[in-house]
Amino acid sequence: MRIILLGAPGAGKGTVAKLLSDADGSVQISTGDILRAAVKEQSVLGREAQGHMERGDLVPDDLVMELMEDRLKKDDCRAGFILDGFPRTITQAEALKILLDRLHIELDFVANLDVPRDVILDRLTTRRTCSNPDCQEIYNIKSKPPGSDGKCSKCGFPVVQRADETEEAITHRLLTYNEKTAPLIGYYDKEGILKTFLSLESGKTVEAILDFLGKRQ
Ligand code: ADP
Ligand code: ZN
Repeated sequence: MRIILLGAPGAGKGTVAKLLSDADGSVQISTGDILRAAVKEQSVLGREAQGHMERGDLVPDDLVMELMEDRLKKDDCRAGFILDGFPRTITQAEALKILLDRLHIELDFVANLDVPRDVILDRLTTRRTCSNPDCQEIYNIKSKPPGSDGKCSKCGFPVVQRADETEEAITHRLLTYNEKTAPLIGYYDKEGILKTFLSLESGKTVEAILDFLGKRQ
């Protein structure tokens, strides 16, 4: 499949993307994960991105486009891809359109994950993440707590609250989403490739997306 997942922070894009990738071997491409790995490595890109990310701001479009162009050209994308967290602005969406045309790639559709705001807020403030950059397993202090010692049950690294998941940064990320990313819903609707899924349970959302894809083929 070749799809874009749209949705507010905390809508469950990462979980849904992973399950979709397990379903048919398409690669999950998360700009958030790529950027966090770059920050960890303190590469040139990472150092430029870090401040923006910690404040809950978007990383500048030109940096993200550079990174995505390299990523989409890699061989593993031929099996299909699920874009998770990209595009995030109209500028990125327009640049992506040009890039995909140039690479002769056609998207199947854009899945918009719609989640009520109170559910989003609750999820974001209770979310914890494995600090191992190669694992990044996601926990939730209410519904999926880490081991009793606060360690990841997959890899044993400490499970932490991300710097951008403090209450202040979360509020800022949601504002940024409303201002910069939500307009993409209208953009892709106009392009005729948008489908919205009310998404309360990732498993069900994944089924609905696979079902929709199957019907279109
Ligand atoms: P979430 O979807 O929960 O906000 P992500 O892991 O997708 O988390 O993104 C974390 C941070 O990485 C964002 O707050 C932003 O600073 C940066 N980021 C990720 N994707 C993009 C993008 N496409 N454009 C600009 N910044 C991005
Ligand atoms: Zn882990």
